[in-house]
Amino acid sequence: MPSKVKCLASLEAGKYPVPSTVARRDLRSDDIEIKILYCGICHSDIHHVRNNWGPDGYGYPVVPGHEIVGKVFRVGAEVSKFKIGDSVGVGCMVDSCQTCATCKNDREQYCDSATFTYGSLDRRDGSRTYGGYTETIVVTEKFVLSIPESLDLAGAAPLLCAGITTYSPLRRWGAHPGSKVGVVGLGGLGHMALKLAKAMGADVTLFSRSQGKAEDAKRLGADQFLISSDPERMETAAGQFDLIIDTVPYKHDVNPYIKALVPEGSLVLVGYFGPLEPTVNSAPLVLRSQNLAGSLIGGIKETQEMLDFCGQHKIMSDIEVIDARDLHSAYERLVKGDVLQRFVIDITTL
Ligand code: NDP
Ligand code: ZN
Repeated sequence: MPSKVKCLASLEAGKYPVPSTVARRDLRSDDIEIKILYCGICHSDIHHVRNNWGPDGYGYPVVPGHEIVGKVFRVGAEVSKFKIGDSVGVGCMVDSCQTCATCKNDREQYCDSATFTYGSLDRRDGSRTYGGYTETIVVTEKFVLSIPESLDLAGAAPLLCAGITTYSPLRRWGAHPGSKVGVVGLGGLGHMALKLAKAMGADVTLFSRSQGKAEDAKRLGADQFLISSDPERMETAAGQFDLIIDTVPYKHDVNPYIKALVPEGSLVLVGYFGPLEPTVNSAPLVLRSQNLAGSLIGGIKETQEMLDFCGQHKIMSDIEVIDARDLHSAYERLVKGDVLQRFVIDITTL
């Protein structure tokens, strides 16, 4: 019998999540049931419930949450990787076909049958997926990650999305000692990008709209801080950066960041999905052989690699743990950009 569990669900487009219940499936032979302890709040959760990405393809309710940590509670008959009591995590994906070229290449996020943690359809039985603002989740073991013992569980939760989304492009575009990395926007993704780029040995600069975040940016690993709304300050950044990771969630002008790149440098967009305005001027891109790119989370193998890297370097997210009843005020602060780190829901307060 599927079990009913408590959750926070957005019941219709544009409505913030409220207490509700959802069903969790019976265990398949390769499934793990996780008792969730903490779930981070990603700005993607807000895009979903505020309907910023258009009508949800599979309707409501939507139970957000893809930065999930907890303990293994039950395992299916053929599970071999985990045992009851293990500390585990689940990020943005819960299944994929496992046979296509991208899956075989450990890039499950591009699989045509990738099943995302919420707002998706289970590729095997067509049921809707519900995320981590719930007491439990049932996930095929291939998509369950191991949390290193050196990490605090609440602080590790945001690594499952904010961590991998910034780790992957930092690795792909080669942040290393001697390279100059820029991060645009200090929120959940931005603060992880600062910590990870610093741990990879890069010289790191934060571009922010908010002067009030300067001290915290330095504490989180930034060597320099630049106000992005000040054209004169932005002029001082021209031609300096090997790599810039842009985490801003809404439409904004990316031309100043292209100008800030060295020849052959790369601007990687991870925050905003949509048409850019003002228009991107391709002249500097062509004349200085620069790259304008995007990046989507990371595969399961790379996510485990990121968690192990964080375990080794003791890198966790800076968090503010909140009760379930404080979700709406946390959402409002994220909408205003009034955040330096990640909100994490204590799931025991559901
Ligand atoms: P946060 O809300 O935690 O942080 C975003 C930061 O962007 C803000 O703190 C602010 O920093 C800056 N910002 C600039 N302009 C605005 C604006 N108009 N409104 C709000 N903030 C603004 O968001 P997250 O870090 O959780 O997520 C960032 C984006 O990344 C989201 O759009 C999310 O959907 C996306 N995302 C993408 C993934 C991928 O795989 N590519 C995976 C996960 C999330 P400051 O004050 O310093 O300027
Ligand atoms: Zn996310």
